[in-house]
Amino acid sequence: MTFNQILGHDRQKEILLQALARNRLAHAYLFSGPDGIGKRLVALALTRAIVCHEQRGCGDCAACRKIDHHNHPDLHLLEASGSAIKIEDVRSIQRELNFRPLEASRKICLIDQADLMTASASNALLKTLEEPRGNALIILLTAHPNRLLETIRSRCQRLPFHRHPTSRIQNELERQLDLEPNEAHILAALAEGSFKKAFGKDRELFLDQRRQLLKTLTGLSAGSILPILEFAEHLAADKAVLPEILEIFQVFYQDVIRQLNGGTLHDFVNRDLQAKIERVARNESLPSVLTKLDSLFAAQRQLERNVNRQLAMEVLLLRLTA
Ligand SMILES: [Zn+2]
Repeated sequence: MTFNQILGHDRQKEILLQALARNRLAHAYLFSGPDGIGKRLVALALTRAIVCHEQRGCGDCAACRKIDHHNHPDLHLLEASGSAIKIEDVRSIQRELNFRPLEASRKICLIDQADLMTASASNALLKTLEEPRGNALIILLTAHPNRLLETIRSRCQRLPFHRHPTSRIQNELERQLDLEPNEAHILAALAEGSFKKAFGKDRELFLDQRRQLLKTLTGLSAGSILPILEFAEHLAADKAVLPEILEIFQVFYQDVIRQLNGGTLHDFVNRDLQAKIERVARNESLPSVLTKLDSLFAAQRQLERNVNRQLAMEVLLLRLTA
C-alpha cells in the first residue's frame, strides 16, 4: 500500500515524507498507538518509499513488490516468536545490520509489538540504538509504549498514532462495501477506531444474526429455564464466535445505559433497535444494567480460561434475565 492509499494519519505521513525528501530520517522511530489502526501499514509504506526504484513507493517496481511479499533482502521484520521477542531474535537482526544493504540505500528493521521484547532483548537493542550502524533505519511498533525501557524510548523519534473517528470509518464502510448508514455505523462503532477491525468484522454475524440473538436474549424471562438452557447450548456451540456474541450483548446493554441516561437515537450503536432498547430500559435501572455488564465481563474472562462454555452461558443467561 502506498502512502496515498492509507486512510488518515495525514500528519504522521507528512512528517515521514518530508524527512525522507530532505534525507533527514531519524535512525530509529517509535510508532505508538492502539492495535489495528495502521502503524504497520505506514511503516511498510515508508519502507517502500525508501527502497522503490521510482523513489516514491510506486507499488509496481520489483523492489516495492519484494516489500509487499516480505522478501526484500534489506527489510528485516522482527516479530514475537511465541509470547516474547527474545535476545536471540535481536542478535540475529544486529548481525544483519552489520552488513551493507544489498539492494536498497539502507537496511530497514521493523520490530512489531516491540513491548514484547524481554529485558535482555531490550538491552541488546539499546546498544544498536546508541551506536547506529551506517544508515540503518529501525522502526519499533507498539500499542504499549510505556512498557518499553525509557532508555529505548528516548533514543527513538516518537510518532504517536491515533484512532480513526467512527464517522470516518462509517463513511468508508458505506463507500467501499455499499452498506446502509445504520449498518455501517454499527460496524464502525464496534471497530474501536480501527479500519482493520471494521472491515474484518463478520458482517453476517454483526448485522443480521445480531438482531436475532438480541431478540432471543431479550425475550427470555427469569422463570423460563428450558429456553435459557436451549439458548445457552446454542451460544456455547461455536467457540470461535462466542466472544463476538458476548460483545454484541455488551454493546446492547451499553445502549440501554445510554437510553437510561437520556441519550437519543444518535447516541446508540444499535440504531436499528431503538424500540427494543427503550423497552428493555423501561424494566431496568442503572445499577441493574451495570450488574449485567459485570456478568458479561466475567463470562468473557472465564472463556479466556477455557471453562465449560455451556455452564458459563447458563450462569450468564440466568444473571442477564434476573
Ligand atoms: Zn516502487
